[in-house]
Amino acid sequence: MSTHTSGRCTLVGAGPGDPELLTLKAVRAIASATVLLVDDLVNDAVLAHASPTARIVHVGKRGGCKSTPQAFIDKLMITAVQEGEHVVRLKGGDPFIFGRGGEEVEHLRAAGIEVEVVNGITSGLAGMSSLGAPLTHREHAHGVVFVTGHAKPGDTGTDWVQLAHTAHQAKLTLVIYMGVSSLAHICQGLLSGLPAHTPVAVVQNASLPTQRQALTTLEGLVATVQNEDLHSPSIIVVGDVVQGARAWQPQDLDAAQRQA
Ligand code: SAH
Repeated sequence: MSTHTSGRCTLVGAGPGDPELLTLKAVRAIASATVLLVDDLVNDAVLAHASPTARIVHVGKRGGCKSTPQAFIDKLMITAVQEGEHVVRLKGGDPFIFGRGGEEVEHLRAAGIEVEVVNGITSGLAGMSSLGAPLTHREHAHGVVFVTGHAKPGDTGTDWVQLAHTAHQAKLTLVIYMGVSSLAHICQGLLSGLPAHTPVAVVQNASLPTQRQALTTLEGLVATVQNEDLHSPSIIVVGDVVQGARAWQPQDLDAAQRQA
């Protein structure tokens, strides 16, 4: 066992999937780790940078197993750091955009452990970029909202009606994470504040060879996701910037407007 003082923890964003999107800092941290705790959405190819002697622990739902309880992950990290290990906690996308990175840092701090954080490219950015479109554009959006479609148990969740009104008035693009499973509810709320023909992109497995996407409108969203058989992990982007997507056809909007 190493000395108490040499242990440390780095929370590393592994990006949306494509290992080429790792930062140099992430690669260095992964290479120097003695213990790696790896989330579900982290591409295995990223682990090619790990030392052959590093202990790699998968803590996601992969292989049909239940996801590892958060308390267990926190305990594992704290114990390993106290034993002198360099623990790298690898999280999909950016560690501080959803995915409970903030909670992990709080638990480590409470145990007297300072954590270094290495940003990663969040899937909400990668999804739209993969379609060749920006999330902001002077003509279409003054800003972006990153929002989750999945509330914490006991939380009432996002007020989609209010958010839709705000997005419409303030010209904001909505980037929805974890939205596929509650899509009907989300759409119903958004349609009360945003035009039915608002363009929408859904991008599954952004940046990976398995990426699939669909372009539609708010009123066609539920049917499109069903027909195209799109699933989690997907990013849903709502707003006029979607018109900039490579495959967007102007007639998509015309047709939707005619129907509306
Ligand atoms: N910290 C992560 C988000 C974790 S929450 C990040 O910054 O990307 C998990 C959600 O992220 C998924 O339900 C999905 O909405 C989104 N997501 C993660 N990876 C994705 C990918 N490659 N393509 C599309 N969506 C992805």
